[in-house]
Amino acid sequence: MEGWALAYEVTARKWRPQEFDGVIGQEHVTTTLKNAIQAGQIAHAYLFAGPRGVGKTTTARILAKALNCVDGPTVTPCNVCTFCREISEGRSVDVLEIDGASNNRVEQVRTHLLESVKYTPSQGKHKIYIIDEVHMLTKEAFNALLKTLEEPPAHVYFIFATTDPRKVIPTVLSRCQRFDFRRISGPTIVDHLAMISEKSGYDVQREALALIARRVDGSMRDAESLLDQVVAFGGEALTAGEAAEVLGIVDQDVYFELLDIVAEQDVPKGLELVDRIFGQGHDLEEIVLGILEHLRNLLVVKAAPEAEVLIGDAALALDRFREQAGRFETEDLLRLSQLATQMEQSVKTSALPRVQLETGVVRMIRIARSVQLTDVMARLSEMARRVETEEGGAEEGGAGDGGEASGTEVSGTEAPETPSSQTVDSTAGTAPAPSPAPDANADQSSATSTEPSTVTELPAASSESSPESTESAAASTESSAATPTSPKLDLREARNRWPAIVDEITRQRNGLGILLAEAVLSDCSLPDDAGPEAPFRLTLRFESGHVFHMQQMEKRENKSLIQSESTRVLGIPVRIECEIDESAAAYVTKPKTDDAGAEMTGGGGSTAAEITTQKTDDAAASMSGDDDPADDAGADDAGAGLDEYPGSAEEIVSETPDTTTAGKTGGQAANTRAGAAKDPAVRKIVEAFDGQIVTD
Ligand SMILES: [Zn+2]
Repeated sequence: MEGWALAYEVTARKWRPQEFDGVIGQEHVTTTLKNAIQAGQIAHAYLFAGPRGVGKTTTARILAKALNCVDGPTVTPCNVCTFCREISEGRSVDVLEIDGASNNRVEQVRTHLLESVKYTPSQGKHKIYIIDEVHMLTKEAFNALLKTLEEPPAHVYFIFATTDPRKVIPTVLSRCQRFDFRRISGPTIVDHLAMISEKSGYDVQREALALIARRVDGSMRDAESLLDQVVAFGGEALTAGEAAEVLGIVDQDVYFELLDIVAEQDVPKGLELVDRIFGQGHDLEEIVLGILEHLRNLLVVKAAPEAEVLIGDAALALDRFREQAGRFETEDLLRLSQLATQMEQSVKTSALPRVQLETGVVRMIRIARSVQLTDVMARLSEMARRVETEEGGAEEGGAGDGGEASGTEVSGTEAPETPSSQTVDSTAGTAPAPSPAPDANADQSSATSTEPSTVTELPAASSESSPESTESAAASTESSAATPTSPKLDLREARNRWPAIVDEITRQRNGLGILLAEAVLSDCSLPDDAGPEAPFRLTLRFESGHVFHMQQMEKRENKSLIQSESTRVLGIPVRIECEIDESAAAYVTKPKTDDAGAEMTGGGGSTAAEITTQKTDDAAASMSGDDDPADDAGADDAGAGLDEYPGSAEEIVSETPDTTTAGKTGGQAANTRAGAAKDPAVRKIVEAFDGQIVTD
């Protein structure tokens, strides 16, 4: 490394600015200094504070020249007179540079500093002390300094520099005029390096220079030094990829590739990429930080498309960021960032960082799926709103009920024994009650026998016609998506808590956790013949290709861990069963002839049930203030209506009494459903969804 230190010295000296206007990125300092010199109001002690390599010592030397130049004091030292040249070359006897880090003993301060203060400068006009890293001086040394600082002789100037101004004692601080030097921005560094490259005859890609800039945390001196290294190792013509290799850092392309994979939801590709990164020997912590930074850049671009400055040197790839940001919703990116932050922690602390990285990447890839659902929900509720607006009069009543109904939902998701689960019971009671729309019912049962459907519920509830029953109708439409009618646990609740279970198992047995994350909770119920103390049955569904996954789950020690963790998290005894989804897609409804009559929505297999469940999960986060019951009911029924009963909705509308509030709400929902069924775009969305939805 000696060689590099030398090279760095050479470059730093070669490109070191020799006048105030040459100091890059510190105009706020140099302008003030020039004004002071012009006004003849130069302070006797300055403190230059700021990170390393941003120009503090350089500015100090220029100030020294400005004072001692044969033309001085001047804002433009000539740089040719003896005084200037000696200062530039570091051999002026009147300008003493002292490194606080190595001269921190009080005797040395005395000999080097205080003693020489007594004597007038030998040839120049002023005696100037530049003390670097002044905070390193001991307290005694500081105190020795103070005496001189209190009453400095007219010919003496002090310029202190520090990277840690908080460590400079207040009595010294109070006697100095302080300037804070800034980190130099990425683009500024890139511009400067480009200038150096050009003048040196290098052909280094701008993206490669950006990589250097990203590395040096605002330090121009480090940037110049790194440019030297990169060119020395990689040659004078360099691409970004070559520079990345020399610097041992991960090329930005890797992050673009990863986020593309996340957008495409390709788990195998994601694992391949991790394997490749690992094979290249990169530091995995750095990778995770890189992912975080990339996500942050995407967020910035998403939030403020013109904010080049905000993403610093990444601005060079602005178009790429813009394009990639377009593949995600802001909500996605926030959630992905959250995941990446967790991943950072786990990679840092784990004994198996690679496994943590893999788990994290798989989660990132999977999380995007459920976010897509949010998008669909937004569209569906937008449509519901549109239909509602057309209807006009019914809006107020609907909105009022919506507030209450959504309140019920929220409490329902948090605690199983809240009104939400009670409404499940009440639904069970009301649903078989005489329906005011027998025709619709008949129509449906002729359409298909496998799905008794939520569609019949709304008119049924409407006929009860009290505000409470409207509320419970809206809520029960939600709850009925969950299979069991138990007051203790339903599928929605179980799914809400499922990620916590997977997390815990991943923590304890990582490999198992990864496999488990591929499972979908497809059923949660008490077995028909179960006694009151019987465990709940949680069914894990795996895609047809995942036989291996299922076999692992069936292993006794694995199963018992999953069971015990589920029992612990859910607070009730749980038994795990596994099933393979034989159909091609994970969420195609399996024929459920056996329990079609008993269960409201056929065991969580239908698209409608999925959307309902997902809606409650995501709605609070992404669609706040959007809790109209017509949305909820409309969305549910739109799904069901689209999939199974494209015609029935309108019939229900015509049958619905329109005189009470409840009737209006019901009619509204049915109308929405009708609208949904007619809208080919929505139909397309729901169809596209089938087989993709993953509860998160
Ligand atoms: Zn001069």
